[in-house]
Amino acid sequence: MMKPVASEARPEPQSGDPAALLTGHAEFRAELSAIDGMYAEMFDRFAGLIAGAVGLADLEERKAESIGRERGHVTQALGQVAGLPIEQKKVAGRALNLIKRRLEELERAKRLELESAAAPKDALDVTLPGRRPWIGRPHVLAQVRDELLDLFHGLGYSTYESREVERDEYNFTKLNFAPDHPARDAHDTYFVAPDVVLRTHTSPGWVHAMEERKPPLQLVFPGRVYRAEQVDASHMDQFHQIDGLFVDRDVSMADLKATLNTFARSIYGPKTRTRLIPIYFPFVEPGCQMDVACAICDGSGRVRGGAEDQRCPVCKGSGWSELLGAGMIHPNVFRAVGYDPEEWTGFAFGMGIERIAMARYGIAEIRLFLENDVRFLRQF
Ligand SMILES: [Zn+2]
Repeated sequence: MMKPVASEARPEPQSGDPAALLTGHAEFRAELSAIDGMYAEMFDRFAGLIAGAVGLADLEERKAESIGRERGHVTQALGQVAGLPIEQKKVAGRALNLIKRRLEELERAKRLELESAAAPKDALDVTLPGRRPWIGRPHVLAQVRDELLDLFHGLGYSTYESREVERDEYNFTKLNFAPDHPARDAHDTYFVAPDVVLRTHTSPGWVHAMEERKPPLQLVFPGRVYRAEQVDASHMDQFHQIDGLFVDRDVSMADLKATLNTFARSIYGPKTRTRLIPIYFPFVEPGCQMDVACAICDGSGRVRGGAEDQRCPVCKGSGWSELLGAGMIHPNVFRAVGYDPEEWTGFAFGMGIERIAMARYGIAEIRLFLENDVRFLRQF
């Protein structure tokens, strides 16, 4: 059978199944057929058209063609009802209004179907860059502290934490700082009350530990300390330390040196060169400073810069960088906590966590640690 020419020139749009969109399809068609088979055919045509829409734009077009205000076939047919004889007018008006309302319901149902099918595709655009979840991590100072604590735990040390607000007696007097001794000047701090200070070092922890416990002791003391410093790139008014304390019979300077060398080589590598130089701290006798060979210039004090050698900017040409302070515990400290200095001996050491982190990661500005800028912190 030949199809009409017009249909071949413009293929019929794909038709769909309206019965799948709305319940009561068969009953509705039966109702129309009872009025006149012509209306059932008209409904079938436009219901199939709407049900067959392949997208929201296509549906809009098919809606315009069937029930649109401008050029909808059903709308136009309704417009012609007024000119019909009175009996036909009643029948046609009722049938066409039924068809129009049913087609509107079908159009809404089809729109919902298309929208819900389209929604997941719109929501998932695989070409968009991913949104990385925010994952927290320990602060760089906490990482370094934990690594150092791990190391000392491996050497047999336990952790002892003590308060940040400290009596003058524990921060100074019992650690052999005489009331007017100039060594106190290096520990200018914040006074909470006439004899209560924010601790200037973690060493008051030794006094508490020794007063509470009997030797032998093998402890490390991590924590935050305070100094009334002029804040600049390498000084903050608060920073972090780890002190260590070893008390037993017959402890010697050789034990101290071996412990510190083991420690230095664990963090800087097995071939690291170290040196001890004498230095004064009130709470040790003798006192020393441990330096490690500068990691930047390998102890030479010179780095290559352009054609000529230049003075190493990190160790300022000395070839060494300061790692920590240490020494044999002063007999006066033992006396202050009730230990007999004739029976007990021991060593102690202390280091700044910021200094170690700065040396390791090449951080030139100490203030960055407390600025809470994630662009800085997430690098570690
Ligand atoms: Zn150097």
